[in-house]
Amino acid sequence: MNRPAATDWAARAAAATFDGRCLVEGERRAAMDGATFDKHSPVDGRLLGPVARGQAADVDAAVRSARAAFDDGRWARQPPAARKKVLQRFAEAILAAGEELALLETLDMGKPVGHALAVDVPATARAIGWYAEAIDKVYDEIAPTGPNALALITREPMGVVGSIVPWNYPMIMAAWKLGPALATGNSVVLKPSEKSPYTALRLAELALQAGLPAGVFNVVPGYGHEAGEALALHMDVDAIGFTGSTRVGRKMLEYAGRSNLKRVFNELGGKSAFVVFPDFADLPRAAKTLAGSIFFNQGESCNAPSRVLVHETIAEEFVRIVAAEAPAWQPGDPLAAGTAMGALVDQGQLDTVLGYIQAGQDEGARLAAGGQRVRADSGGFYVQPTVFDGVANTMKIAREEIFGPVVSVIRFRDEAEAIALANQSSYGLQASVWSDNLNRAHRVARALRAGTVHVNQYDEDDITVPFGGYKQSGNGRDKSLHALDKYTELKTTWLRIDS
Ligand code: NAD
Repeated sequence: MNRPAATDWAARAAAATFDGRCLVEGERRAAMDGATFDKHSPVDGRLLGPVARGQAADVDAAVRSARAAFDDGRWARQPPAARKKVLQRFAEAILAAGEELALLETLDMGKPVGHALAVDVPATARAIGWYAEAIDKVYDEIAPTGPNALALITREPMGVVGSIVPWNYPMIMAAWKLGPALATGNSVVLKPSEKSPYTALRLAELALQAGLPAGVFNVVPGYGHEAGEALALHMDVDAIGFTGSTRVGRKMLEYAGRSNLKRVFNELGGKSAFVVFPDFADLPRAAKTLAGSIFFNQGESCNAPSRVLVHETIAEEFVRIVAAEAPAWQPGDPLAAGTAMGALVDQGQLDTVLGYIQAGQDEGARLAAGGQRVRADSGGFYVQPTVFDGVANTMKIAREEIFGPVVSVIRFRDEAEAIALANQSSYGLQASVWSDNLNRAHRVARALRAGTVHVNQYDEDDITVPFGGYKQSGNGRDKSLHALDKYTELKTTWLRIDS
């Protein structure tokens, strides 16, 4: 397939039009009070267009539409094989619209368009397609009870699911919710981040075209404290699948408590440890993997390995190799071919990241690479790949999620200290251990308090495995068959059998 040349992306971006209206009951519509907010591109700061500023009334209309669709069974009572066909068509439509979606994703949140096309589009399609494939292959249960009774344990869709998602992987995060929620027969109201509304709206249009009945998948853009809060407080929403910060995740639990005790599944922040032992021979490979994992997506990844724990005897060499990798990740034009790192999502995120870089220096950490804003003339928000050495685990840059291309290197003396430091975090999303000693690798992997532990790699990821965190990184798991649990209720039905 011929890919357009680099200049074509810029031309396409210049010619693109944007529709920021809600999608409710299968129709695009403005917010009821007509309010909008301006969405700017992180690439160059230009105004892309007005986006509907959804309020409680818009959320209520979307929830009513979703409830009506659920209650009349237009989707929930279709046989699993029929739902599968529609969702397969939806996945195919995502691939077919790949270039358009990739461009929108880049203009929404600043990642290189090459990555959006190579990673985000296929991962989004796969998440939808995988749950489509799965849904006519999962069985319910019969309990091993006595001869005069039959106990069926069945899974039923929740009803109306609210999904609130962030801007860092807007399509993939939405698809991780939509796949299992729709496959199990729920209706969904999706609230994308105000920073990245466009691909969510386009996904909903593609789903409609693929045959998803109107009302089953609604999108209400808007601010978190308006549309998001209204959705999470709504008395007729049965579950919230939330991905975002730990700060807002706490609010989700409060909203549930203040309203109808809806189920809340939180996928939250991280400060993942990358633990390198001196018995790992291939330090350049570990360093290259680290750079690729922390600088990919501008460091705006929940599972980015932002805390590197290195044995004191190899720390100097390791920092030197990681710093030498940094130039390969210098930010460039997200619309140009071959760009490795793009723009941070907006001015606010730029200020946050630069603030952390200053805090690191103020607390005495040593800058081994980067640390500066670049490409300011572009009007976009670009920061160099940044490496801090001499970091203490108690410093702000080691404790808090920066969500930018900044990595902190902390030294340790022995295995016990490495485990203790790795686990001294309020987060527990992911971790990795690098060791050629099989016993140590297993021992440390078991001791690390994280939802996913990588051994001698950090790149593997697949829709087949659960993704989620321990501690304040959340309480749910996206992906894999386990995610079906989030969007279904377990029902026990007893039947009497007379002998
Ligand atoms: P955020 O918490 O600020 O916002 C996430 C979503 O919540 C957005 O749609 C936002 O509008 C909405 N929101 C904000 N305030 C709200 C409120 N008061 N009520 C209801 N909704 C509200 O997070 P973000 O900045 O968009 O995303 C970055 C965060 O997401 C990071 O912490 C990152 O680690 C996390 N994340 C986690 C995962 C995971 O799977 N664990 C994946 C991606 C991102």
